[in-house]
Amino acid sequence: MKLGILALQGDFREHKSVIQNLGASTVLVKRPDHLGGLDGLVIPGGESTAIAKLMEKWGLFELIKEKVASGLPVFGTCAGLILMAKDLEDGPPTLGLMDIEVERNAYGRQIESFEGELETTEKEEFRGNSVHGVFIRAPQVKRVGPEVKVLAEHEQLPVLLREDRLLAATFHPELTDDPGVHDYFLRRVVRGS
Ligand code: GLN
Repeated sequence: MKLGILALQGDFREHKSVIQNLGASTVLVKRPDHLGGLDGLVIPGGESTAIAKLMEKWGLFELIKEKVASGLPVFGTCAGLILMAKDLEDGPPTLGLMDIEVERNAYGRQIESFEGELETTEKEEFRGNSVHGVFIRAPQVKRVGPEVKVLAEHEQLPVLLREDRLLAATFHPELTDDPGVHDYFLRRVVRGS
């Protein structure tokens, strides 16, 4: 299995090591030719405005949309989720992949970063039955489309969502020791078992 990790800005190295530890190979995607032959793509956390600009600059923006339209699975965390959203209140142009509405930096200045245990609806799916969430200037999901399944919540807000071959988290599973969410992406979303 070969996973691409969008490596323009943000914490792509952390995603790379989690995925390699799970036994899949990785390609750092910086240019259009790196998108060939992938089984899935990860869009990391970072700064969504910077990632969007660099995707445009290197001709990746439209190409990623095309690949996803023809079935490429995508997993986005934090800035990655923002860039996957169909509706964004204020921010860069998005890829418009997942039917959600998102507000950036929605927790405000007082609580820019925090950690917490997440309630998951799919207890059997995640190792240890709970998911530890690291939130850093995290977005909030304000609307969830009818085809989108909420896999985990934190204080009644959806924080892990799936729509068919798309998985998105408002937090950073790549910054913890628990590979459960990445494992779910590889096993359930990419391989579809
Ligand atoms: N606040 C950032 C943005 O708007 C996202 C932060 C993150 O990815 N940790 O892109």
